[in-house]
Amino acid sequence: MSLVTSRLEILKEEDKKDLDVARISVDEESDAKRKLYIESYGCQMNFADSEIVASILRENGFATTSKIEEAELILLNTCAIRENAEQKVRNRLQHLVPMKKKRQQVKIGVLGCMAERLKTKFLEEEKIVDMVVGPDAYRDLPNLINEVEDGQKAVNVFLSREETYADITPIRLDSNGVTAFISIMRGCDNMCSFCVVPYTRGRERSRDPFSIVKEATELYEQGYREVTLLGQNVDSYKWKGVNGELSTTNFANLLEMVALINPDLRVRFSTSHPKDITDDVLYTMKKYDNICKYIHLPAQSGSSRILELMNRTYDREWYMGKIDRIREILGEDCGISQDMITGFCTETEEDHQDTLSLMDYVKYDYGYMFAYSERPNTPAAKKLTDDIPNEIKNRRLTEVINKQQSHSLSRNQMAIGKVHKILVEGFSKRSTEHLCGRNDQNKMVVFPKENFQKGDYVNVLVTECTAATLIGKAVAEVLV
Ligand code: SF4
Repeated sequence: MSLVTSRLEILKEEDKKDLDVARISVDEESDAKRKLYIESYGCQMNFADSEIVASILRENGFATTSKIEEAELILLNTCAIRENAEQKVRNRLQHLVPMKKKRQQVKIGVLGCMAERLKTKFLEEEKIVDMVVGPDAYRDLPNLINEVEDGQKAVNVFLSREETYADITPIRLDSNGVTAFISIMRGCDNMCSFCVVPYTRGRERSRDPFSIVKEATELYEQGYREVTLLGQNVDSYKWKGVNGELSTTNFANLLEMVALINPDLRVRFSTSHPKDITDDVLYTMKKYDNICKYIHLPAQSGSSRILELMNRTYDREWYMGKIDRIREILGEDCGISQDMITGFCTETEEDHQDTLSLMDYVKYDYGYMFAYSERPNTPAAKKLTDDIPNEIKNRRLTEVINKQQSHSLSRNQMAIGKVHKILVEGFSKRSTEHLCGRNDQNKMVVFPKENFQKGDYVNVLVTECTAATLIGKAVAEVLV
């Protein structure tokens, strides 16, 4: 499901910045004369794509800037996962109208899922837009920019069955220099009835594993100490060579290849799918200390009847079986997070209670929870009626969030009195006397900085917690 889309997660102090506000490109040290400004909305995959776009345009004389007033090219990398995500982009475009009036030479382009969903309609609906480019057409950007500079409008929303941008080294935008995302595949072959992704990102295709290992190795050599492997459904990763001539590299194989780069390079991944996650993946996680013991396993609902209407291809019992395997193989401490949708078509109070009781069964560490937002042209929009009133959707959402809040707190309380290996990502948001970083379970930990610094692995004894953050102090020496 969503790759850590903007979330209604129990707000981690350290993560508040991630929500609502688009992630903005940074000032690039480059003598390139032309300035590019990128705003990325939505999930990590979109943000990773913006880094690919910055790299393609750097080859064509552009350097990114964080100052929109300096840019001659402004790109919004858009999200279409829910109505309010699209509304955010429309509002932003309205904000840019006065600036465009003043600076006629500025060109504005929209990228990503909303661009792919609307295609040329985007130009009709938003006159300020000069260029509409889908997620598989970024290589064509230099040509499209030339067309726009000749005074035309430009569109390329072709969805590819091959494109993975494997040969393009992303430019790390807004990076802490310690953690980075690597997209290992694109598109999705699941057809969850509520989801636009298969229509905006196309069919599933996996990237050459050797290009992934090369990118991770280069990141390690540049000082990064954690990589997160990204895909809509990483468990269906499969590489058989360009023409299927090779023996299959599946996700467990790829995980092992990346873990073997260096024991000091942590490996995370997102997002898993309950129907495809295998024991092989779980045993590979167990085999390597540097593969973090955390799994994002969207459920979406606890009701088998609703899961069928969502076309999630598993039922409540299957999902609980996967949770049992994770606990059996990786132990009670393995971090697990969820995605939940409340108020899906025909959802009864009983279905809702099934969702709450599933959460009681799993006791997730945290989650991404939303009220159902009908998306145009999805199977659900075509075949089902969005018949649950908003006040019921939101009341159920509040109940799900409150339950998650209490579970997040109790799961975090289990961490008190234990020593956790933390990878320092930087200063805590609240004080420069404190550092922050994540433990194996992907939880943010804050502790007094002493002589430690970004990129260090530190043993931290957790002494207290909130539902969102663990708090502690460093014990013993730096591990690495
Ligand atoms: S179709 Fe299903 S699995 Fe694929 S991205 Fe959408 S929700 Fe996730």
